[in-house]
Amino acid sequence: MNESERQVRQITQKSEDFSKWYVEIVQKAELADYTPMKGMMVIRPHGYAVWENIQRALDLRIKAAGHVNAYFPLFIPEGFLKKEAEHVQGFSPEVAWVTIGGKEELEERLAVRPTSEAIIGHMYAKWIKSWRDLPVLINQWANIVRWEKVTRPFLRTTEFLWQEGHTCHETAEEGEAETLKILALYKEFCETELAIPVLAGRKSLSEKFAGASMTYALEALMSDGKALQMGTSHNLGQHFSKAFDIKFEDRNQSLQYVWQTSWGMTTRTIGALIMVHGDDSGLRFPPRIAPVQVMVVPISIGNWRATVLPAAQAAVDELRRSGIRADIDAREEATPGWKFSEYEMRGVPLRVEIGPRDVKAGQAVLARRDTGAKETVPLASLGNRVAALLEEIQAGLMSQARTFLEANIRDAADYAGFKDILEKSRGFVRASWCGDDACEARIKAETMATIRIIPLDEEEAKTDAPCVACGRKGQALAYFARAY
Ligand SMILES: [Zn+2]
Repeated sequence: MNESERQVRQITQKSEDFSKWYVEIVQKAELADYTPMKGMMVIRPHGYAVWENIQRALDLRIKAAGHVNAYFPLFIPEGFLKKEAEHVQGFSPEVAWVTIGGKEELEERLAVRPTSEAIIGHMYAKWIKSWRDLPVLINQWANIVRWEKVTRPFLRTTEFLWQEGHTCHETAEEGEAETLKILALYKEFCETELAIPVLAGRKSLSEKFAGASMTYALEALMSDGKALQMGTSHNLGQHFSKAFDIKFEDRNQSLQYVWQTSWGMTTRTIGALIMVHGDDSGLRFPPRIAPVQVMVVPISIGNWRATVLPAAQAAVDELRRSGIRADIDAREEATPGWKFSEYEMRGVPLRVEIGPRDVKAGQAVLARRDTGAKETVPLASLGNRVAALLEEIQAGLMSQARTFLEANIRDAADYAGFKDILEKSRGFVRASWCGDDACEARIKAETMATIRIIPLDEEEAKTDAPCVACGRKGQALAYFARAY
């Protein structure tokens, strides 16, 4: 066993124990670490750099769609949360409360925000007076606390980071259009930046956000066959505007409640990147989101500091000049083999190797993380070739993930077949559903599968088949899966 193999063998094989593999990757690649507080993680620099790239790419899109950023308080008075009955009921099991400030007991408890509809609704009531004030299109980047019982880094933690958009509109139609516009924006973001294909659709009423009229969601398939919700967009109707008295004078001088939406995407997306693209050797980051896109490793043979290092450094400088996130590992104490497996584990999309012979020949060796393929290129054309390869890798990861998703959507005609798919292959099961909450609850209790989405397209959702579980008339074709 050589050094590189030894390094790799320290990671549990993905096929052997997926959960263990996941947790090991998170820690060994230094994305996150556990803390003494249960369910609370530290996002380490390597993980935070991924989040910064996600933030940057998503923030650009949110702003291009006309929104602006603001920041609202971390604490929400208990009375605010209680104003929308369904909202408080939905969130109360997981709210953390502040009861003492300094040495004084508070007159009213403060919730650490589990989401910000309540405080934002209160402020909007103050700010919005006329139809001229609409639409209000505000987004906030913030941390959120939800007291979770079972936690896993990035996927479910007591505190997490997200963006939450909160908008107000004059009409129901505009509210609905905004909700769907964001759903489409999220889908494009997931597929372009994260190279993760998603199914977009509406949630069943039992899975909708507490206080929303309708929740739309994006679902991705992890490589263990379980689904992960990537983002949600809620049409809040007038639930919160009535509870918080957010009224405006319309174009006919009559007072109306605004129509609202809210939508969010979280640090969970980092968990999705790990579980969709990772393999037995570790992470595989799509280049557009990778903290480091290219790692240059000078081959340390002989008098390499004099012969190889200047050429390797020049290669990094050139790549950086052309806007590529390149870095060099010129450490003396680690061998090239050790470095190779280290950056494979950390998911760096492309490695550049330069040794004494390469310098003499004016060339470098490029090694792809996604396929393992290697090629030799002249140093003179390094920048162009690297740029082209990064695009190929991005497209290749997307194509692999799409093939996997498509191969793992199966139709079930009856309940036995439905259960069989979930036991043997997992993935999404497409089946007819009667529309009854009780039937959905029974399916969940018996199979651990929930309705992930119902397609938006009426043709796609149309079904003549009876409900897969109860045999009554089917209302819609739904995508079921076991989910994180
Ligand atoms: Zn049914």
